[in-house]
Amino acid sequence: MNRTFYVTTPIYYVNAHPHIGHAYTTVIGDFLKRFYKLDEIDVHYLTGTDEHGEKIYQAAKESSLPPLQFCNEISKRFEEAWNVLNIDNDDFIRTTEERHKKVVNQILKTVYDRGDIYYDEYEGLYCVGCERFMTEKELVGGVCVDHQQPPEKRREGNYFFRMEKYRDWLNGHIKDNPNFIRPVGYRNEVLGILKESIGDLSISRPKERVPWGIELPWDTDHV
Ligand SMILES: [Zn+2]
Repeated sequence: MNRTFYVTTPIYYVNAHPHIGHAYTTVIGDFLKRFYKLDEIDVHYLTGTDEHGEKIYQAAKESSLPPLQFCNEISKRFEEAWNVLNIDNDDFIRTTEERHKKVVNQILKTVYDRGDIYYDEYEGLYCVGCERFMTEKELVGGVCVDHQQPPEKRREGNYFFRMEKYRDWLNGHIKDNPNFIRPVGYRNEVLGILKESIGDLSISRPKERVPWGIELPWDTDHV
């Protein structure tokens, strides 16, 4: 049997140009690819750009460009940077590509059909920078620590993934498979998080607020 090894960087968010932090991660991925290849292991190395969401929509607006054109320009800079650094990636995925949207739709539909996605409305404190609702506990002096801005009060409908339902299963899976998360420090960190309720996960935004996203296959008013 052929031995295989898959390595990916995070796909980088295109609301900013590539910087040394992106390069650091991508060079480490490149190192792993070359190292395993020396051992005649069949390696697939992926990197790419994450191009949807409120932050990118706003960044495009600020530069007076249509979102896709904005993404094209920044994504190109990432590709160019990896060329300059002689990165040997096998693929470069962009979340605005049809092949990506197709897979997102398939996965969402499968999960939805199994009843693990539901709709709910709520009001909360929303940080635009973080693109998420925050708890009072997370705020310091009434502002988001990362963005030094007070969150807005917002009420909106989101679809949620029943994440809490899988907490016990995930906990068991990580315990039964010691190599599932490495190094062990991070494994313990995740196991620590799973000791308490993790809640359900908001997975959509109303399209009227965030038009720049992939439409949900069962409700095109949400992305
Ligand atoms: Zn924030």
